[in-house]
Amino acid sequence: MELNELKSILQSAGVVGAGGATFPTYVKLAQGADTLIINAAECEPLLYTDLTLMELYMDKALSGIRTVMDAAGITKAIVGVKESKGKLLHWSQGQELAPGIKARLLPDVYPMGDEINLIYEATGRIVPPGKLPITVGVIVMNLETVYNIHLACYENRPVTEKWLTINGNVKPIVVCVPIGIRVQDLFRRLGIKVPEDHVVIDGGPSMGRIIDPYTAIVTKATKGLLILPNDIPAVVTKLRPQRVQLTMASSACCGCSRCTDLCPRNLLGYPLEPHKHIRVTAISEHINPSDVLSASLCCACGICEIAACCQYISPRAVIADHKELLAQAKMRFTASEHVEYKASPERASRMMSSARWMQYLGVDKYTAHPECDPIKKSFDRVEIRLSQHIGAPSVPTVSVGNPVRAGQIIASPAGGLSVAQHASIDGTVVAVDDKRIVIEATR
Ligand code: SF4
Ligand code: SF4
Repeated sequence: MELNELKSILQSAGVVGAGGATFPTYVKLAQGADTLIINAAECEPLLYTDLTLMELYMDKALSGIRTVMDAAGITKAIVGVKESKGKLLHWSQGQELAPGIKARLLPDVYPMGDEINLIYEATGRIVPPGKLPITVGVIVMNLETVYNIHLACYENRPVTEKWLTINGNVKPIVVCVPIGIRVQDLFRRLGIKVPEDHVVIDGGPSMGRIIDPYTAIVTKATKGLLILPNDIPAVVTKLRPQRVQLTMASSACCGCSRCTDLCPRNLLGYPLEPHKHIRVTAISEHINPSDVLSASLCCACGICEIAACCQYISPRAVIADHKELLAQAKMRFTASEHVEYKASPERASRMMSSARWMQYLGVDKYTAHPECDPIKKSFDRVEIRLSQHIGAPSVPTVSVGNPVRAGQIIASPAGGLSVAQHASIDGTVVAVDDKRIVIEATR
């Protein structure tokens, strides 16, 4: 298949980065890469979504990988999984999964799914700070994304379903559900009740966000739904207001720089030093964006906040604040061409083991392997968001009262960076506005 034909299929099938980034996949496809890396590291604890897909549908994922390789002229692909999950798949280091496609068993450390760390671990290359992976000849895609590429290209199935893990203080399960269902409908269907003193997190415990299960819906970004007690570190830090985080940063930092010593981006030689962001916040009333450019290099892993700081300060929250300043000023860090970036010799010993990270987060007791329930369930109502990807919102092509079928395009890509959206159930359109299209099932 020609590259432009593949791009057109993926845009029209609504394929976006399924690991949570939701960057339209067609834009990632470019000539000039020599390596395709499949991110199946699933570095967030408690998530088993990609592992389940690999157990059930590796043939389809490999077909999606081959399609990208052929269209983009890439000769080598690497499927990166953590050693522990590689063991469950019975894979060995370097095993050939298909011609030109090899398994790479990655160290069981967090955040192994961070694109920059993954590329380094799989190829030894360091993406210059602020640049894209293609600058070192690499394209990275999530495992579920290449599975969706297969569906779009060979089964005429656009992205209408989402695979996700439900875990935490609940019987863990991996399910495949229509995009746009309400989280409360899913929980009701599975008999899940959220206890009083618990929260629901969309995503992993480290980087996910607390949602209201009564209003939240499943989108193309949803990789997991976790039900966790509100007194464990993973949740306490999320519940602390940003205002409090910033006040603590201004008053309590002892300047030990442990947050910088453990920062996984700093350990790759990136000029990101979280303790200096704390210092800038503490001493400056008005922060000049050009003084905090390195904030754009932070992957928001949370190690500085949850594991490094003994003063309960959150460099991650401070850096998020600095990222906002940069966004308003339309500024970001870009690497100088004359600097060679090298990983720290301390990197191997300072990276955070997955087991230790689970303890820091307070989720180490949730070790049960989830069951998988691939049986499709019917849902009465879905709400398809027009902006569930990076870029311009899709443009509705249906009106209230129109009957629709699952898989039908209901919103086309806007100009520029954008993708189409599709009905995920059969039914009738009952609401359309500039943010969403609501469909109710035909009874
Ligand atoms: S969240 Fe903290 S540790 Fe993680 S990349 Fe950002 S500054 Fe570094
Ligand atoms: S670890 Fe905490 S106390 Fe130490 S420099 Fe970082 S923010 Fe300050």
